[in-house]
Amino acid sequence: MGGLYVHIPFCKKRCLYCDFFSTTLLERRKEYVEAVLKEIAERKNEVEEIKTIYLGGGTPSTLEVADIRRILEAIGTDKAEEITMELNPGDATQEYLRAIREAGINRLSIGIQSFQDKLLQLIGRRHNAKQAIEAVKMAQEAGFDNISIDLMYALPSQSMAQWKADIETALELKVQHISCYGLMYEEGTVITKRVEAGELEAIDEDEENAMYDYLCERLKEAGFVHYEVSNFALPGYEAKHNSRYWDGTPYIGIGAGAHSYVGNVRSWNPDDLEAYIKGGIGYGLQVTRESETLSETDRYNERIMLGLRTNKGVERGAIKKDVKAQIEAGLLRETGDGHIVATQQGLHLLNRIIEDLMI
Ligand code: SF4
Repeated sequence: MGGLYVHIPFCKKRCLYCDFFSTTLLERRKEYVEAVLKEIAERKNEVEEIKTIYLGGGTPSTLEVADIRRILEAIGTDKAEEITMELNPGDATQEYLRAIREAGINRLSIGIQSFQDKLLQLIGRRHNAKQAIEAVKMAQEAGFDNISIDLMYALPSQSMAQWKADIETALELKVQHISCYGLMYEEGTVITKRVEAGELEAIDEDEENAMYDYLCERLKEAGFVHYEVSNFALPGYEAKHNSRYWDGTPYIGIGAGAHSYVGNVRSWNPDDLEAYIKGGIGYGLQVTRESETLSETDRYNERIMLGLRTNKGVERGAIKKDVKAQIEAGLLRETGDGHIVATQQGLHLLNRIIEDLMI
């Protein structure tokens, strides 16, 4: 049992905060899809049963429906329970949404980020708030009943009132899943440079924590389960594909820059469009993929890092360090079934706690 991820690295425009591997060379899409199809044929049997499929990016919705259909056919969807595709609201039309639903996509992840036009412009998104709302409504009309949206907080100049309004809009849209990320100032991105140059002001850590706490409280009140540090779902709508990353189930990553994890071996394709296309068409991707076998220590550290991000936590007996101090400080707590999970206060300091518990 496993998952399969396909990376579609194309974006019509680069967002100002982004440091993911993506490209605006849309004219290379056809060749890229051919390479992807070849890699799927070569590698899809690396995991026994593909139960979840995720088309991520970049922007998968820059692909034509015919290419999405070819990719899904090449993978084989008969055993798949969840087939997710990321969608940019700027690409949403009734026709496109109906066609991808028909092609087999049964879950959408819509990159909304904000319902405030000013903030969307500030971070360089190519859609506006109206398009974001319409994308969700059109998807619902097209028959999607498992929709996730992404929202961002801690954006420069974002007020608490704007953030609260975004959460209310998300709730009014009656989506089943919400992922929320605080803005990260990655090195070299345009937004980081603007903050460094004093053109924009980052909001402070207390304000960011207050936004996160409000989010957790409000979504809980609305019936959402906070099942991972950045992810909230109505009961039964937790993302199956992403949950597999967190619990160590094998997955194959197809496409440029995609990572795989099968049998304690992590491998990754070059995050280079040319190298990927050339490898896929001409030489066979096995040649260009790099890999590493995870040691027992690596696997332990990974279990701590991923487990503590979830509401399931990590079995106390599996943790090799003493957690008494963190429990006394109110950062961790033990559940009734002997698992250690982060408290709300602990979630603010999660990276530090994880580092302390790693070996
Ligand atoms: S759409 Fe996504 S991958 Fe593309 S530039 Fe924006 S954040 Fe990055």
